[in-house]
Amino acid sequence: MPERVVIIGSGPAGWSAAIYAARANLNPLLFEGTVKQDMIPLGQLAYTTEVENFAGFPAGDIRAFVESAVAKDRHWNLPPVPKGHEKDGRPHYAVQGVELMELMKQQALNFGTRVVGDDIVDVDFSGRPLRVIPGDGEPVETHTVIVATGARANYLGLESEEKFKNRGVSACAVCDGALPRFRNKPLAVIGGGDSAIEEATYLTAFASKVYLVHRRDALRASKIMQDRALNNKKIEIVWNHVLQEVLGDDKDGVTAMRLSSTVDDSTADVDVSGIFLAIGHTPNTGFLKGKLEMNEKGYLTWTSRFRTYTSVEGVFAAGDVADDYYRQAITSAGTGCMAALDAERYLAEKGH
Ligand code: NAP
Repeated sequence: MPERVVIIGSGPAGWSAAIYAARANLNPLLFEGTVKQDMIPLGQLAYTTEVENFAGFPAGDIRAFVESAVAKDRHWNLPPVPKGHEKDGRPHYAVQGVELMELMKQQALNFGTRVVGDDIVDVDFSGRPLRVIPGDGEPVETHTVIVATGARANYLGLESEEKFKNRGVSACAVCDGALPRFRNKPLAVIGGGDSAIEEATYLTAFASKVYLVHRRDALRASKIMQDRALNNKKIEIVWNHVLQEVLGDDKDGVTAMRLSSTVDDSTADVDVSGIFLAIGHTPNTGFLKGKLEMNEKGYLTWTSRFRTYTSVEGVFAAGDVADDYYRQAITSAGTGCMAALDAERYLAEKGH
């Protein structure tokens, strides 16, 4: 018997789709993804620290809640309680990205979602039922598929960048910018698009100064965003430079950046406590090339407004894999819910 719903991906879109599909008695099967295929089990939030903008999770004694709600055999995944986060003698801190994802996973498991720790490496959407092909296991036949494989932030690929990830190097100002380590310190954003300017502007609320480092002498960002950067006294644009190396130490994490000029051979070291990459994202759609309609950047396209339909009937897309614009945990979760409802209606229509 074919599955009724296969979900590919384990970020907020995947788990939210699973919660809704499981509660609709569709017995979903979710492929979590592995690092073997460059996927991130639990999605990009697994790389994030405090999440302060997911509605329903105000700072407080979140850890006690997480520990009471998440199965004990997955506590190894939970980060240590950050020190010094207390209010009125009680722990007071925001949910960590990985904790939020473990809570979503638990919620999906509680309603009977079956989880497989494997990647989908290929699909066959040419006939019915649909077929998805895992990296290790046997092909799976299914009436519907929800693709929720997300996207990954682009990094430059520097060794020093990897070394200081989560210790001053980040690809998400909105996620990490308000952390104490960045307060009243000079910071840098790398990139010249709308995201770079949005992130730089956002960071000016916390930073003493923000360097916007761009490899050319003209920004790619829209005019209105350019004006925003040019008129913000806290933002200094460093034209015609790229990040050559992240400088820092074990104690303080990032302490400076080494920039190299794109027009001559010069380099310069600039003191910063944080470096935010904003050089675009890459959707995790490599295994779907030629199988589903995508835009020129490789994101899956919704074929109908406010519906999660893709170019193949019965295949739905949710979260960042179909969104290069909002890219928030909460919008992903919302579209995951939408995809599950779309799948449920499709199955009902087809009599499955
Ligand atoms: P983007 O438009 O692709 O811009 C990426 C930027 O990173 C470009 O300036 C690019 O430089 C630079 N870059 C890429 N690779 C680099 C490398 N290896 N080294 C140094 N610099 C590098 O991406 P985005 O800013 O994330 O925007 C994505 C989409 O979302 C866009 O359509 C954007 O309009 C939209 N968006 C809109 C808003 C808004 O309206 N509020 C906010 C965020 C995003 P070059 O310019 O030289 O190529």
